[in-house]
Parts: sequence; C-alpha cells; structure tokens
Amino acid sequence: MLSTQKRRIVLKSKEEIELMRQAGKIVAQVLDEVRRHTRPGVNTARLNQIAEDALKRHHATPVFKGYPNQRQGLPPFPAIITTSINNELVHGIPSKDRVLQEGDIISIDCGAYYKGWIGDSAITIPVGKISEETRRLLEVTEQSLYQGIAQGKLGNHTGDISAAVQDYVESRGFSVVREYTGHGVGRRMHEDPQVPNYGEAGKGIRLKKGMAIALEPMVNVGQWQTELLDDGWTVVTADGKLCAHFEHTFAVTDGEPDILTL
Ligand code: MG
Ligand code: MG
Repeated sequence: MLSTQKRRIVLKSKEEIELMRQAGKIVAQVLDEVRRHTRPGVNTARLNQIAEDALKRHHATPVFKGYPNQRQGLPPFPAIITTSINNELVHGIPSKDRVLQEGDIISIDCGAYYKGWIGDSAITIPVGKISEETRRLLEVTEQSLYQGIAQGKLGNHTGDISAAVQDYVESRGFSVVREYTGHGVGRRMHEDPQVPNYGEAGKGIRLKKGMAIALEPMVNVGQWQTELLDDGWTVVTADGKLCAHFEHTFAVTDGEPDILTL
C-alpha cells in the first residue's frame, strides 16, 4: 500500500527485531490459515473473516483496515487482508460476491500489529488445479523474492536487491511492476528505504544493520504496466494478463538476512 506519511529510515535494535519477529510470525500463521481455506467455491469475504479471527486469537490487530486512500474522497481500506484474483495485482477488496473458481490464483497480503510492531507478508495461492504456465509464474515470483532477500546483506545497496529480483524475473520471460515497491517497515507500515523490484546493482541506499525491509516482488506474465480501478484500491495489470505477488519482511544483520515473517 502507498503511504501518506513522511518516511524515514529507522534502525532497529536486536530486541526490537525480536518483537518484529513475533508480529511476523503471527502474519505467517494468519496467511497459512487463509491458505488452508482457499479452494473453489469460497468467497473472499470468508477468507477475510478467517484472517480477522486468526489475528484476534493471536492478540494482534490489523494494519490495513482503515488505511487512508491516496485519492481524495475515496473510503479507507475496509478489510483485514487484501484479496487480489488473477489479473488483480494488489489491494483487492474482499467481497461475498467474489467466489473463487478452479484454476484461479489469489494473492493475499496481510499486515499485523503486535506490541507496537508490524509484520507484513503476502503470498499468491493456487485455487485447485492451475495451468503449467500459472504454476511457473508463482514459482518464479516466489523465487525472485528469495533472490532479492539474499542480497540484503551488510555492504550491499538497495539496488543489489532490486537488480536481483528484476534479473531473475526478466530472464524467465516475465516482467516486474514499476509503480509499487518494497519498503522499510517497523512501528509504521511504510518507512524508508523504498526498494523497487527493478534497478541497478550498486545503486541506491547502502544497507545497514538493523534495517527491516518488506520486499515484495510483483510479477506480470505480460507487460509491467498496471491500472487502478475506480474503487480507488484494486490494482490490475493494464493488459489483463495474470500476475503474482509474494512478500516477506526481513532484517539486515551482521550475517545472513533474517526473514521475520516465517
Ligand atoms: Mg504487504
Ligand atoms: Mg508491504
């Protein structure tokens, strides 16, 4: 989601990273529960209800609900999770009228507050049996996330992460979205630095210990351009082709990148 707040980089202490891991773990459990209920015939309002119940059970609160719209006069985000089906990339609104069909894919994005800290993660889930090309789209998108995170090391720059995602995706024949980016995260959902899914190695901001970053490759089968629907939230591919989205929050450490949303 886009931020209306002023951004800055906030480095986290070891203790703060551990709190973020607790928030991240809750998000992972919520997503896992939603995944287990995703099947043909289920509507997206039901998946939202499952996420709401799960957050409550973990004594966490939602981040997305009430998130202000960038466009003046449009309502804030009304739900706990975003549910984006097939050619919908991100920020789809759960609804009783959206019933999943065999062969669909659905991206679920969830943010949780726990003890003042945020976990942010997303997965794209197959609904029943999907085609071979669709399966490859999911696999490439998820793997590009791990390729990007692997560059999240001390001494590297944000551009190393961006370039790793872009190279992995484009060399496999898909495209990366330009309009929405990964971001720093902590007590606020959007902090600096922004981490695009495209860029040049060695460019951008130098990574520092204690940075927490939500990296979120958005990958299209066709062209990278997107459009915003009239509801002011749902982002779709401009060419109507399929797309996928995976996201983890990770911390930059002395050693290997530390994924917090597992
Ligand atoms: Mg997210
Ligand atoms: Mg995010």
